[in-house]
Amino acid sequence: APVVLWFRRDLRLGDHAALLEASRHSKHVLALYVLDEKLLKPGGAPREAFLYGCLEKLDEQLGGRLMLVRGEPAVEVVRVARSVGAAAVHVSTDCGPYGRRRDASVAKALADNNIDWVETGSPYAVTPGRVTKPDGDPYRVFTPFYRAWTAHGWRAPADTGPSLVDWVEPPRSLKIPRPPRADAELPEPGERAALDAWHAFLDGGVETYDTDRDRPDLSGTTRLSPYLRWGCVHPRTLLADLGDGAGAKSLRSELCWREFHADVLWHRPETARENYDRRFDGMEYDDDHEAFERWCAGRTGFPIVDAGMRQLLAEGWMHNRVRMIVASFLVKDLHLPWQWGARHFMKHLVDGDLASNQLNWQWVAGCGTDAAPYFRIFNPATQGKKFDPDGDYVRKYVPELRSAAGTDYPAPMVDHAHERRVSLERYGRITS
Ligand code: FAD
Repeated sequence: APVVLWFRRDLRLGDHAALLEASRHSKHVLALYVLDEKLLKPGGAPREAFLYGCLEKLDEQLGGRLMLVRGEPAVEVVRVARSVGAAAVHVSTDCGPYGRRRDASVAKALADNNIDWVETGSPYAVTPGRVTKPDGDPYRVFTPFYRAWTAHGWRAPADTGPSLVDWVEPPRSLKIPRPPRADAELPEPGERAALDAWHAFLDGGVETYDTDRDRPDLSGTTRLSPYLRWGCVHPRTLLADLGDGAGAKSLRSELCWREFHADVLWHRPETARENYDRRFDGMEYDDDHEAFERWCAGRTGFPIVDAGMRQLLAEGWMHNRVRMIVASFLVKDLHLPWQWGARHFMKHLVDGDLASNQLNWQWVAGCGTDAAPYFRIFNPATQGKKFDPDGDYVRKYVPELRSAAGTDYPAPMVDHAHERRVSLERYGRITS
């Protein structure tokens, strides 16, 4: 009997543990993707457009045999599996809060129909929940997690590809929707593009990653985040290519941040919305929607903040250093809740990922794990000078500042020194 391979956050055929496992059960595999409104809604047009692009590429690799359906997974997956007489549905584990609930209900519906549910691998080198302290508690701090994660180790990449199995001709399929209009300029979707980007990065020399990664004016990072988000490439593939130089070590540690945040969310799913550090439930925030709109539009009058916010709108991506600067500005200069900023990011980021996004926001806001000391509040001007020394990044995204006069450019919307004091006072009230 055939089996179904239900693709979710693993839109590739190489290094695909669930595909390898499916091939051990049957040579006849039906490739399925379910368009689920619950997942499509919170993401904005850029992420949706990138997803459809990835599905196109996957379908090409499958010789046009990707079956696409729309609807409630617990209904659709069962219907599809039954229609081809499948013995099992194979997946890579989804570790997010919604994915876990959804999968539990799909697995149950399949069991009611005597169809097996098989989970193999996950979007992480080490599946969330596997690395714990010796007493079984989850880690709350990155560095010890990183040590334990390294010691735990991971498998070598799985040797899979499009010709490993015979792809079953779908009985029927929707056409891949035309991408919604996304004003952002998006990266090339799909597995091939992910691997090309990775090899181009390696050819450019991973050695300089360590020093250049904080510089938004240089292209010093991999820009693989959208591909990792959609599973166009598995982190194991990347880790297997990394040696022991300073650049490689630093990149391995960044990849581990992704795994750490997934682990935190796995243990504490409520932190997708709520403060990880409950003391912050008493923190006073403002309710200024106009200030929020200025931040969203990149009209704060702080060049590095505005450049970042406009890069987000233009490319569906923002440099990590600048994500930290704009997030700090929203929370500590405008005193707005981190959830507002996180929602805006999720709407525009092609790499928008619940674990990485919500927990990085919390980290910057001071209410997350391993938080930087609250009093270390980014000064947007100093940060700009340090990380964009010639102003190239700012000029690229804020055209008003290309000429010395900067006529159309707004004056700073707040006094940083003053807002810093306000933040510290409010912080003092929840910690005293
Ligand atoms: P590289 O520097 O090349 O790093 C390689 C990979 O490591 C990245 O693709 C990413 O998967 C991972 N990584 C690097 N830094 C981090 C980090 N701090 N946390 C988690 N993973 C990391 N990343 C997302 O993938 N999705 C998000 O929604 C997201 N939201 C963020 C929100 C805020 C407020 C902040 C401060 C950071 C956020 N990040 C998010 C983390 C980071 O900014 C991006 O992963 C990174 O900028 C992507 O660019 P890159 O692929 O060139 O990174």
